[in-house]
Amino acid sequence: MDNNTNNKNLYIVRCGEVALKGMNKPYFERILLERVKGALRVYQDAEAKWKEGLMLVRVTDSDGKAIRRIANVFGVASVSPAVETGRDMDEISQAACEYMMDIVNREGIKTFKVKAKRADKSFLVESPDISRIVGAAILKYCKVLKVDVHKPDCELYVDVRREATYIFRDKIKGFGGLPLGTNGRGLILMSGGIDSPVAAFMMAKRGMTIEAVHFHSYPYTSQRARQKVEDLCRVLAGYMGTIRMYIINLLPIQEQIVMNCPEDETTLLVRRFMMRIAEQVAVRNNCMMLITGEDLGQVASQTAEALVVTDKVVDMPVMRPLIAMDKIDIMDKAREIGTYDLSILPYEDCCTVFLPKHPVTKPKLRNIERSESALDVEALVNAAVDSLEVVDITPQ
Ligand code: ATP
Ligand code: MG
Repeated sequence: MDNNTNNKNLYIVRCGEVALKGMNKPYFERILLERVKGALRVYQDAEAKWKEGLMLVRVTDSDGKAIRRIANVFGVASVSPAVETGRDMDEISQAACEYMMDIVNREGIKTFKVKAKRADKSFLVESPDISRIVGAAILKYCKVLKVDVHKPDCELYVDVRREATYIFRDKIKGFGGLPLGTNGRGLILMSGGIDSPVAAFMMAKRGMTIEAVHFHSYPYTSQRARQKVEDLCRVLAGYMGTIRMYIINLLPIQEQIVMNCPEDETTLLVRRFMMRIAEQVAVRNNCMMLITGEDLGQVASQTAEALVVTDKVVDMPVMRPLIAMDKIDIMDKAREIGTYDLSILPYEDCCTVFLPKHPVTKPKLRNIERSESALDVEALVNAAVDSLEVVDITPQ
């Protein structure tokens, strides 16, 4: 055992997909370890390392949030509070009894099952026998417990390794996915709505570093509306670290559209400008993809035809991670990641400022391009890109 670890909690971090990586596994493991350490920077004494294929974290959990912080790291499948003990069967049984007694006292569980694994095949007791011996010891020690091999209240893992034995159970589920920073950089078009924060989260969960662009129509939209978007980014920053946000006033463009183009096309024309501007911002800041919270058929600008017409103005791939989700499921996800309550605050978005009464739902590219020919598209886009403000949103 390491020195100076007596008062620290031990956690075993189980990773999902990272474990399935072939040749690149060491790379993913190294980044995952860095991310876990990063998430625990708030604790002075946190240590994390790989040992015999297990990620072990030791930390004094001074605010009771250590396990949650670890579980929120992308790439982590679950986190288990664990104890480390020696390789002597009596010692293992004793540690398992104490571990279970603690759970009985805190949670009042009634049934359990032991699942032993011998990663070290030179260990003389075979796995089923380890399970039997430890199970019998627990039954004797915790009189209220019974074995249930089908649906136990608690499944206890006993993992015998070369240098030590670990006793644990799965406690908190993580989000899975891949460690942040292993999959390029993308720019999310971030409104104050429910969808775009979820879309950003989903791409980050696959390892993508995220930057955000937000359009407002100040003074038609308020400072509070902008503040809401910054607050949403702050929640997301809790998962993915500081988020760089580009803030752009779209009002000059919206005014031109309203003055010069058919009313029913307004929303779509505005969306095409958003995409063009976002692409420029992305190129300048080394983002390789655009991301939106669009969802097929949710509103007029998200019909299949509208999405095609929107995409025509950019060369960069546009990721729409929510495209096939139902709104109900997106809302559940927003609640789970903690953005929902902010998203439903009733502040206006730039898209709602000049909302047409009957927006086109099946736009024709030809018509849209004809309408746009009344505008100096390039000059408008350049002016918008030149006027952007940059804010770095740090986690709370
Ligand atoms: P959301 O809940 O993300 O606002 P929505 O269903 O309200 O989505 P729209 O308002 O049509 O749909 O926006 C579609 C997508 O366009 C959003 O998911 C977002 O990616 C982008 N978007 C909309 N408004 C803005 C904005 N003000 N700034 C940046 N991007 C925006
Ligand atoms: Mg919206």
